[in-house]
Amino acid sequence: MAHQWRGIIAEYADRLPAHVQEKIVSLGEGGTPLVEAPVLSELTGAQVFLKVEGMNPTGSFKDRGMTTAISAAAGRGAQAVVCASTGNTSASAAAYATRAGMLCAVLVPDGKIAMGKLSQAIAHGARLLQVDGNFDDCLIAARKLAETHPVELVNSVNPDRIEGQKTGAFEIVDALGDAPDIHALPVGNAGNITAYRKGFVEYATATADLPAVASRTPAMWGFQAAGSAPIVAGHPITEPETIATAIRIGNPASWQQAEAARDESGGVIESVTDEQILAAHRILSSQAGVFVEPASAAGVAGIISRAERGLVPAGARIVVTVTGHGLKDPQWALRAADGSEVVPTRVGADVVSIADALGLG
Ligand SMILES: *Cc1c(COP(=O)(O)O)cnc(C)c1O
Repeated sequence: MAHQWRGIIAEYADRLPAHVQEKIVSLGEGGTPLVEAPVLSELTGAQVFLKVEGMNPTGSFKDRGMTTAISAAAGRGAQAVVCASTGNTSASAAAYATRAGMLCAVLVPDGKIAMGKLSQAIAHGARLLQVDGNFDDCLIAARKLAETHPVELVNSVNPDRIEGQKTGAFEIVDALGDAPDIHALPVGNAGNITAYRKGFVEYATATADLPAVASRTPAMWGFQAAGSAPIVAGHPITEPETIATAIRIGNPASWQQAEAARDESGGVIESVTDEQILAAHRILSSQAGVFVEPASAAGVAGIISRAERGLVPAGARIVVTVTGHGLKDPQWALRAADGSEVVPTRVGADVVSIADALGLG
């Protein structure tokens, strides 16, 4: 009989805290495909796999952390949750909160929220408040609201989020049989690089109750967008800019944890330009067959950039986590490499015209 994936809490119950398991709120998240990407292997001289997190229930990895955060909140009898969001956190929080019968308040920064994500939050019944300020201002306000009112904060500063998101690392090791040499991913608020590092370390460490599953941990390679690269710059960015809205964050909440993940794993955190991100986005969709949102392409842009500088070890096994689905922010697919709008060719409704237009003679 086919095995139905049960969601990350049920699948990894022995490696998650008990308090997220009292009242599980799940939409079947996790169990996402690990897809080999020959085009990227060829470009980098490594063996590259993509962890396709757009296949989660609301289309991004945020669901891994939201099932644990909302389950923990439900276990404590919470009635309402709040988050600051560049989009995907609100889409995910709204879905899991409505499933749990809770109110979900969402603080989104002025402008620059991708249409797909906004429509999800609204469809799932979130109370959407557009805040006069950027993401970092929204997070400060959300934190204060949670401190002063009976509302739980479900941003990635909530440790339950990290617990859920670490299961992405477990799945990679389970699929490959051991940890890869390198794990690459985009870095925004830096919760995910923190979570993956935690997952890889836990899987490589035997405890009294659990054996080690991996023999080692991968080097963590994190990539920020050039206009929003505070960790690379070494100071907060007051006006972060990038087309990759999911990582348009000037003062990451998990800054120190991200630096620890980098340093303890022998990794790097670098920046990639919007042009490099869009080029990687195009390679992913037009050659690898994987459609992602722009931020998700930052990890791929990063390994290509490092390969161009001779910084990818030959034959290394690399997993790149591509974090969100292309349908979240589809406008970028409708432009050609030269920036012009792509329009379909008009033809008559006959086979001859159609075959002609396709160059089939
Ligand atoms: C949230 C998000 C990121 C950034 O993750 P952090 O944990 O904030 O570093 C990257 N890509 C997508 C699609 C996201 O939704």
